[in-house]
Amino acid sequence: MRSTRRSFLGLAAAAIAAPLLPRLAGAQAAAHVVVVGGGFAGATCARFLRRLDPRLDVILLEPNTTFTACPFSNAVLAGLRDIRDQGFGYQAIRAEGVKVMEAAAVGIDPQARRVRLADGANLPYDRLVVAPGIDFRWNAIPGYGEAAAERMPHAWKAGEQTLLLRRQLEAMADGGLVVLAVPANPYRCPPGPYERASLIAHYLKTRKPRSKVLILDAKDSFSKQGLFTAAWGQLYPGLLEWVPLSKGGKVTSVDPGAGAVMTDFDQYKPAVANIIPPQQAGRIAELAGVTDRTGWCPIDPVTFESRLQKNIHVIGDAAIAGAMPKSAFAANAQAKICAAAVTTLLRNGVPSDPVLVNTCYSLVAPDYGISVAGVYRPKEGQLADVEGAGGTSPLQGAREIRTLEAQYAEAWFKTITTEVFG
Ligand SMILES: Cc1cc2nc3c(=O)[nH]c(=O)nc-3n(C[C@H](O)[C@H](O)[C@H](O)COP(=O)(O)OP(=O)(O)OC[C@H]3O[C@@H](n4cnc5c(N)ncnc54)[C@H](O)[C@@H]3O)c2cc1C
Repeated sequence: MRSTRRSFLGLAAAAIAAPLLPRLAGAQAAAHVVVVGGGFAGATCARFLRRLDPRLDVILLEPNTTFTACPFSNAVLAGLRDIRDQGFGYQAIRAEGVKVMEAAAVGIDPQARRVRLADGANLPYDRLVVAPGIDFRWNAIPGYGEAAAERMPHAWKAGEQTLLLRRQLEAMADGGLVVLAVPANPYRCPPGPYERASLIAHYLKTRKPRSKVLILDAKDSFSKQGLFTAAWGQLYPGLLEWVPLSKGGKVTSVDPGAGAVMTDFDQYKPAVANIIPPQQAGRIAELAGVTDRTGWCPIDPVTFESRLQKNIHVIGDAAIAGAMPKSAFAANAQAKICAAAVTTLLRNGVPSDPVLVNTCYSLVAPDYGISVAGVYRPKEGQLADVEGAGGTSPLQGAREIRTLEAQYAEAWFKTITTEVFG
């Protein structure tokens, strides 16, 4: 802990001492790239920036010593996995020459091209990559503010919230009702709530079979819907129910004190309430002036440069990436394309049009996996689906295929976390 703090202070002092370094004045000057956020997008990007151009001075800002991954955190909720298997450090990224600072960006000045830290230090940049993930739109559901999340966890950022929801599920008596509130699009991990409902149902089926999961949804359709509903019919009949928007599924308010969840038609008093609230880009994006009215960040689909501020790139969940979903797979893919674009632009080159791929696996049970894949390329200023590419698991797939897909899901998680943090 002490040595981390010392190295942070050293870096910060260097940043204050040299705020007016010439920016790429000549071919010899090392360009400065600051990356905000050490998640799937930011950590990947920082690493690949150094790989693509080892002369670059790359600083990665991340307030947490350990990153806690969301993918597979639903398995932690269901008691199938230890939260410690979700944690990843930054040693390997440091070893690659990235200066990892344990600090949050608290301000960004796009004109002066500087990032401000809480202690007042300023980091100059030639190019900035903003990758802060999501923040919640507190009170967008009346009654659901930050304090309410301590009673009715969202568990949509993994860590303490995951453990809180797990404890509530463990403490619930057999016969209890679990309500899961799902927001309208767009939000982090479109199939994630349905994977979560499935794995909670698996836990209840095996441990508390008289209980029930109720999904209250603010929309009428969802990712991999046919696959999920077919699997629910097979695996969890009577145990899991989905209420769409058109049948009064949208949660209109909550009362955490009374433990109540309201829709236009009903009031529920569940034993466990998991409220996934509406979201927006991580707050620093707004402070940088890269969010639009939606709360998300419009970008150029070739370079991921913000459409609102020059020299700032936005990747991962915070970005409006057209047809690409907000996933760790997508964040990782965008980060590599962005790193290549940034190094090209710093050499005054012209980045070429990228092709990006995404695959989202979901577990419906520990040995039952399904997936959706897509391919995307720039079209009319957005990342658009390549028609005919990608697709979902077969609807009528044999059980062996589902078992294999569950194994592929785990293999994917190992591969991506090794590439980003290993
Ligand atoms: C339950 C669940 C299951 C999921 N399952 C999958 C899955 O199976 N497959 C998949 O592909 N995706 C999955 N996802 C989605 C995936 O977790 C996200 O899409 C992914 O984490 C996005 O990466 P990111 O880098 O944009 O954001 P994050 O990974 O959240 O990283 C953002 C980082 O930025 C840091 N940060 C924020 N603000 C600042 C600041 N001001 N200064 C410095 N640092 C800052 C944060 O501390 C954080 O570490 C799942 C999500 C959930 C919630």
